[in-house]
Amino acid sequence: MKYILVTGGVISGIGKGIIASSVGTILKSCGLHVTAIKIDPYINIDAGTFSPYEHVVPHITDAIQEWVVKQARVPVEDDDVEPQVCVIELGGTVGDIESMPFIEAFRQFQFKVKRENFCNIHVSLIPQPSATGEQKTKPTQSSVRELRGLGLSPDLIMCRCSTVLENSVKEKISMFCHVEPEQVICVHDVSSIYKVPLLLEKQGVVSYLSRRLNMPIETRPRKML
Ligand code: ADP
Repeated sequence: MKYILVTGGVISGIGKGIIASSVGTILKSCGLHVTAIKIDPYINIDAGTFSPYEHVVPHITDAIQEWVVKQARVPVEDDDVEPQVCVIELGGTVGDIESMPFIEAFRQFQFKVKRENFCNIHVSLIPQPSATGEQKTKPTQSSVRELRGLGLSPDLIMCRCSTVLENSVKEKISMFCHVEPEQVICVHDVSSIYKVPLLLEKQGVVSYLSRRLNMPIETRPRKML
């Protein structure tokens, strides 16, 4: 099983859901069996109602990992085949207190499942304030630093921006976020969210994931669903 964790930085509502489903769509169109998990990090346990012999907290990260493995295996297509890829969207923003157990669970998980089976897509924001019209990289640099501080390194940084990412900005993100320029993906505002899978595919997301996760897949999707 290959796991692709989609995290978000800077602000919520940045487009993680659209990016997670678009990644799933392009991999599916390459003939892979894909499933998805959406995690909304709310922890809602009333400690007053459980037995004094129960201790939730030290095992919460194990429980999250076991649950992810179990859910990822559930067939989601009519042919009842076990999925090969699981795209996991972690709701909220990296650094939020409520998502900490989930981030820690995935930090441990990446070593359990081994490098070739786990990767991280970090969705970040490139604001373009009207005062100067410049695309600003600082919020992305900060959120990648925060993510790294928590033990996860982004394999792809997907930059949400209002207009196409300038090359110099892409190079700056590459330089200061410690990734290759090909790992910086521009996801600018488009007229229809159905264009996002094509936008990702055009920037080599399929071939990158195929190499990174050691997945022998066609580099060009056969059909867009
Ligand atoms: P999140 O999962 O981070 O909360 P969503 O994926 O739900 O964010 O997206 C938030 C909103 O932004 C949605 O209304 C979605 O249609 C819109 N959106 C996301 N990506 C794009 C894009 N590239 N261009 C235009 N609108 C987008």
